[in-house]
Amino acid sequence: MATHVAPEPFENWLRPDGSGLFCAPGGFHTDPARPVDRAIVTHGHSDHARPNNGAVLATPETLEIMRARLGSAAGGRLEACAYGAPLRIGDVTVTLFPAGHVLGSAQVAIEYQGQRAVVSGDYKRRPDPTCAPFELVRCDLFVTEATFGLPVFRHEPDAREIGRLLASVVAFPERTHQIGAYGLGKCQRLIVLLRQAGWDRPIWLHGAMLEMCRLYERLGVPLGDIRPVAEATESLAGEIVLSPPSALGDRWSRRLADPVTAFASGWMRVRGRARQRGVELPLVISDHVDWPELIQTIEETSAGEIWVTHGREEAVVYRARQMGRRARALALVGREDEAE
Ligand SMILES: [Zn+2]
Ligand SMILES: [Zn+2]
Repeated sequence: MATHVAPEPFENWLRPDGSGLFCAPGGFHTDPARPVDRAIVTHGHSDHARPNNGAVLATPETLEIMRARLGSAAGGRLEACAYGAPLRIGDVTVTLFPAGHVLGSAQVAIEYQGQRAVVSGDYKRRPDPTCAPFELVRCDLFVTEATFGLPVFRHEPDAREIGRLLASVVAFPERTHQIGAYGLGKCQRLIVLLRQAGWDRPIWLHGAMLEMCRLYERLGVPLGDIRPVAEATESLAGEIVLSPPSALGDRWSRRLADPVTAFASGWMRVRGRARQRGVELPLVISDHVDWPELIQTIEETSAGEIWVTHGREEAVVYRARQMGRRARALALVGREDEAE
């Protein structure tokens, strides 16, 4: 007589603890907020890739980014794992798949006793010329971020936003356009989007952005003529400057010609945020899925169970339940509103 063994509830083998999401049969955490023996890191952003883990498994690009940002604190033992290459860890099989978020970003697929969980880290679905495209992985449990998990969040097409920026550069040739952008991912993506739109002039960078740009280039993402602002001999009127968001309106900007302040972020959808930062030209360019893409992704994974983390969990949980999924918010420690 055949006996059907009910699959183990996911909570029995994958659960949040004081350090992050812990996979017991694999003996590892994903994106731990505190140092652990063994970590799998989805991508290089600082709230996911933290220092001083014993062993770190990640894509080769993510490990390079961690080395650049953290030096010897990147981890005791760094183990590179390419996309799509299954790896046995303890009693589970782990495979990394592209997440389309920033260079090297990965979703972590974990297989255990015939079930597959996917921990997606941060992800987006739109084409991004600076990283491998998101790969949809069908699974039984999908762990999703919810950075923009409210129906109000609908990101504009990138090309439209870049077009608005270039139209403004034409309209104000006597001014510098200073764009606030985060240094890992957004900065390089903006540069390549500008190149694709035909902007072949030098793009000027705040000194804090140079090293990551050079690393992207070494990892095979050409950025064209990029130069540090410190090397400029003139006022940069009519030019495009990228800086960390914190430099917008800061003393640093005084060297620029009456700058038009722009900020490239999914948050620029919220007018209040732009106004609060004194942003003249908000550019809605995001490295996360918007609401329709998030719901579409939940649908397409065909996962029966959805765990929601860092962001607006409630709306996503509610919607996933309406879609007939089991859904819960994961209270993970150490996640911030994504600096994106
Ligand atoms: Zn991220
Ligand atoms: Zn994140």
